[in-house]
Amino acid sequence: MRNEQCVAARRRSNPGALFPRLIILLVGLAGFLCAAADEGNSPALTQDRLLALRLDGAYDPDRGFLQATARLSFAQPAGERRLWLAEGMQLISLRAAADPVLDFSHEAGELLARCPGGSDLELSYSGRLEPPLDPFVVPGGSPGADRQAATAAGSGDDCRFLSYVSDFYPHPRLDFSALQMSLRLPEGWNCLGSGILRGVRSADGGNDFQFENPNAKGMALVCGRFRPIGVVPGPLAVRLYGWPGFSLGEYFNAPDISRILSFYEQRFGPLAVSELNILFRRSRGLGGVSYSGLIVMSVDAAKPLRTAAARRRPGLESALAMSDAGTDLLAHEIAHQWWGGIVSWETTADNWITEGLATYCSLIYMKDLLGEKEYARIRRRLRLFVKRFAGIATPSAGGKLRLLFKDPAVYQSQVYAKPALMLAELADTLGETELLRRLRSILETRRCRSLNTEEFLNLLCGDDPSLRPRLNEWIHSRDLPKELRSLKRSPCP
Ligand SMILES: [Zn+2]
Repeated sequence: MRNEQCVAARRRSNPGALFPRLIILLVGLAGFLCAAADEGNSPALTQDRLLALRLDGAYDPDRGFLQATARLSFAQPAGERRLWLAEGMQLISLRAAADPVLDFSHEAGELLARCPGGSDLELSYSGRLEPPLDPFVVPGGSPGADRQAATAAGSGDDCRFLSYVSDFYPHPRLDFSALQMSLRLPEGWNCLGSGILRGVRSADGGNDFQFENPNAKGMALVCGRFRPIGVVPGPLAVRLYGWPGFSLGEYFNAPDISRILSFYEQRFGPLAVSELNILFRRSRGLGGVSYSGLIVMSVDAAKPLRTAAARRRPGLESALAMSDAGTDLLAHEIAHQWWGGIVSWETTADNWITEGLATYCSLIYMKDLLGEKEYARIRRRLRLFVKRFAGIATPSAGGKLRLLFKDPAVYQSQVYAKPALMLAELADTLGETELLRRLRSILETRRCRSLNTEEFLNLLCGDDPSLRPRLNEWIHSRDLPKELRSLKRSPCP
């Protein structure tokens, strides 16, 4: 599902301390740069609603070459279709209702086709995806150069992301629909997708990986030379993957995974997917990205998180840095399986909804794990973090903040921390049980929907409209909400 992506650079408070380093956090549900791409796509017409997509293709990760046939079924027939397909893809054939379509254009990634009659469209295409979008590449730099630098330094891996953000398959817009994909990869390559892996079949010189997701907001695939490293027991099948030699215990506390899942399931109900895959890959820092049924966690191979030295280091500066052990990051990414996977946002101006929810979920998880005293400390840290950027931005500016401010902390403070604090304050008012009941109701009644800010705030208010001015203060105002005004302004601890 195309959703939000989140970038957080977190740096230790004392740059001169024993382990000075910059930790890059990319956490979210979907991929990097999706904000700009989303804002560039004009609103789709009603008849462009995509019901189902099936893709059969072959991908050579070494050459970045993709050849595929996509079959799209729309809700209604239309005389013209507007789709998004990566600029480097050359059309081999285009058919509507089995008839060739000759009147089309494909410029700057936008494909316009006149196709009288029919609700189905079939496209065959091929080309180089250059460079394959890696959601862990630092913004503002050259993705290729960053990846090469990481590999040269021995800290990167060979993962290739075929993300819907990079339009590797044609789509009218990214909304929930039924997705099936079969992708052939050369021998030695593995593949995970944002859906259920239905099977792997040997084929000429490689393997066909087959995925499906009955209702997802786009599909993303990640190819690499990773391999299975374990299974987490529980009602939901959780399969873990990592690079050869990867030891989960050096980075994360394995029981956290089932504990976090159980914590959210009790509060928000079962997931939409029947299995969850978690890939641990090497990159240049700590981070994560979450798709429906698939989480990719990035770690620095040279810097295990759970060594005695790492545990002694001081707190990290970030909206998400609630602990130093990666537990908060796991909790954030897993929360996106509900907030993003089941309910999403409508435009990038609304992406605070899922980021704020994922941050709030990790906040209450940490409270459950560490207790009230630590919860109060973390919450105070988040307040000071938000206060630091008071007066310059609002959460409802959403993904635009990444473009407007060079400092990623501005985006983090508004899109992650401030909405999470709003929810925490709402829990103080309503009681946490009532807030969680309302959130679960949103998941149930708005299942597989993309919500906008107005709709979500109204749902939060329930039948008490007097709450709305307070929520507006948090989301639409640059000023500090009343709760934060009395805090002494100070640097983030
Ligand atoms: Zn996130």
